[in-house]
Amino acid sequence: MTGTGKLFVVSAPSGAGKTTLVNKVLSRFNNLSYSVSHTTRSPRKNEQDGLDYFFISSDDFKKKITQKYWLEWAKVHDNFYGTSKEFVKKSLEKGQSLILDIDVQGAEQIMTLDLDIVSIFIMPPSFEVLSQRLKIRGTDTKKVIARRLDNAKSEIAKKNLYQYVVVNDDLDVATQELCLIFKKEMTLS
Ligand code: 5GP
Repeated sequence: MTGTGKLFVVSAPSGAGKTTLVNKVLSRFNNLSYSVSHTTRSPRKNEQDGLDYFFISSDDFKKKITQKYWLEWAKVHDNFYGTSKEFVKKSLEKGQSLILDIDVQGAEQIMTLDLDIVSIFIMPPSFEVLSQRLKIRGTDTKKVIARRLDNAKSEIAKKNLYQYVVVNDDLDVATQELCLIFKKEMTLS
């Protein structure tokens, strides 16, 4: 995959504030867009097909695995998530940089490919804060929250695989830190 666009791989445990941070970064840079993933999970309230995710069936997802449609894919919290190879290729060729908001399993796959990527891990300030944020968000059941917290532990254990680690304690500070990383890396490309 060639072109002048750059791939920013951003991972974080659920509830670390990644979506808010990513949206802030997106609003500050031209020629940077969001890689809309495919998922087999159901849409949450306010989520739109084609904007937040492409919501597809498990059968369709599995078919696309055999067709080698995915640049990377993973099963996260019992659902499949994947990034379209073609979408990424076209964006990079157009000189468009992309943010891939993907989990650690997916990031590890991308890191093995011959691609020029920038990897960033967003950390919650503490496990207690993470747990609190997930409860306040109110989008998931207790069981789902427990599973997400469990998953968070193993994701945080892999944060050192990433080039940058940003702690999201104060949103403004984290936004500034993240924007500096994007600015620097986009200038380098
Ligand atoms: P959520 O269901 O909360 O939107 O996302 C759950 C997790 O799936 C998050 O960690 C998110 O980064 C990850 N995710 C979203 N899209 C993709 C994707 O295309 N590939 C992989 N590997 N993970 C994804």
